Amino acid sequence: MSETTPFRRVLVKLSGEALAAPDGYWLHPPTLAALAEDIARTVAAGIQVALVVGGGNVIRGARVSAAGWIDRATGDSLGMIATVMNSLALETALNAAGVTARTMSAVSMPTICETYARQPALHHLDKGQVVVLAGGTGNPFFTTDTAAVLRAAELRCDAVLKATQVDGVYSADPKYDPQAVRYDRLTHDEAIARDLKVMDTAAFALARESRLSLVVGSVHPPSSVTAILTGEAPATRVVP
Ligand code: UDP
Repeated sequence: MSETTPFRRVLVKLSGEALAAPDGYWLHPPTLAALAEDIARTVAAGIQVALVVGGGNVIRGARVSAAGWIDRATGDSLGMIATVMNSLALETALNAAGVTARTMSAVSMPTICETYARQPALHHLDKGQVVVLAGGTGNPFFTTDTAAVLRAAELRCDAVLKATQVDGVYSADPKYDPQAVRYDRLTHDEAIARDLKVMDTAAFALARESRLSLVVGSVHPPSSVTAILTGEAPATRVVP
């Protein structure tokens, strides 16, 4: 374990949009490279990393099915496949940054990547490899936030780091309310009592029930995964 961080093993949740180009194109190689170098520094700091990447830069099942031409379960299958595409792109960038990364998908695609199973994932993490957990939970009607919390609980992670556009959880949306204040630390119950949106309801309920800490922060420079986990960048910790 690093001397500068309380975290031994962390699950980092990136939204699909975190991989996209400023003009919206779904993948942006310089952004992927910067994220991969950040994760490489986190690994070098002695922290084991599991990653969950969303698919919202490509497709979201709820949105596409709302148009009426496709049912929700099929739309969600497209979303889960999108997360596999993003994961393979991130795996490639991580390997280029000198980190051994393995994509493990909850949706079995044996000719493309490993199928997720808990014991092999733990084994990879113990060897200092990054596991990129693709395919969400493998089930429709869930999100990758729920997949992140589920896998973090299964893999005994110390926390889920949820990367957002802002550097933590605020009392109101800081984009619109100049009086909004950022919380450094909250309990799960305080977040519910203050009606703060930390994650979607199913994901947050699972985190609370599993007594899993959440860390909410920005991965946009000057912040980064490494800076948040070593306490050099601001973030909100949501704890049991
Ligand atoms: N998805 C799903 N089951 C899961 C995780 C994801 O069906 O367990 C689908 C769902 O359609 C979702 C899409 O994959 O909209 C992309 O995931 P998400 O919306 O969580 O991505 P993000 O917003 O984090 O980029």
